[in-house]
Amino acid sequence: KRVHATQPKLRLDDIYVAVKTTARFHKTRLALLLDTWISRTKAHTFIFTDKEDEELSSKGYNMVVTGCQSDHSQQALSCKMSVEYDGFMASSKRWFCHVDDDNYVNPEGLLSLLSTFPQEGDIYVGKPSLDKPITAHELLDRNKTVNVRFWFATGGAGFCLSRRLAEKMSPWASGPHFERTSARIRLPDDCTVGFIVEKMLGVAMVHCPLFHSHLENLLLISQRSLPQQVRRHTIPAERAETDSVAPFLIAVRICICSLQVTLSYGMFENKMNSIEVKGSFSKEEDPSRLVSPSIHL
Ligand code: UDP
Ligand code: MN
Repeated sequence: KRVHATQPKLRLDDIYVAVKTTARFHKTRLALLLDTWISRTKAHTFIFTDKEDEELSSKGYNMVVTGCQSDHSQQALSCKMSVEYDGFMASSKRWFCHVDDDNYVNPEGLLSLLSTFPQEGDIYVGKPSLDKPITAHELLDRNKTVNVRFWFATGGAGFCLSRRLAEKMSPWASGPHFERTSARIRLPDDCTVGFIVEKMLGVAMVHCPLFHSHLENLLLISQRSLPQQVRRHTIPAERAETDSVAPFLIAVRICICSLQVTLSYGMFENKMNSIEVKGSFSKEEDPSRLVSPSIHL
């Protein structure tokens, strides 16, 4: 057998993890992450927020104050995403992953997922929030618009980009460009990433069921995440076969992954939507279920 000289094996600390938060969530949502998964990924996790927090900086967390508005508007969120992207580009990490502050990241799951991809490939992986591509009305000159359809990974479930793809995104994503691109389609930050990757670059998103947001019924997860289960990354069949850029992606469509990559929690119709875990903490002590020791794989 011939062994090709390839990149060194991917390590967890090759992954730049960007967490989006806001000052009023530091002591609540963020604290829970710091006590759980960030305690194991601290050196390569970057916390993007809107106010200095000396207590956290003094504990050695990588805090980035974005200078963006702190509201939940499309513009403010796109501003934060663009600062996350620029932060990654200025680093020497091999993968960029974005998560929200109500996401739990399973470091082993993340590493094993990203290790299945060609490390020099153009990879955009995450979970679609819709079951079909979104339609955007792209603004053209003279107030004309054109409909464009593309897949995007829901930001609230987390997604990742390979460095090679992130570099190609630069004309639409770096510095002030990201917010301009977002304004051009009048959609939020996560949709904007999908637009750049799929429409500007012609690269198909890899659909992966291992990312989870609180928009889905999280109670279903424990049954779905049996060990050694074969997981399929699906690229819509018609796309995979016709897209000239996609052939190598077909090769990675099916991958064996047994570990969930991200989890989440949140309120849904006045009830807590969370994963079902049996641990030593009660639902009152740990409503998110993310602190229960049994989920720390
Ligand atoms: N967020 C923010 N500023 C705000 C509200 C929310 O940066 O004023 C961040 C929040 O920290 C989280 C993400 O935006 O990472 C999504 O917020 P949330 O979970 O509250 O809303 P969702 O969009 O999931 O319903
Ligand atoms: Mn959320």
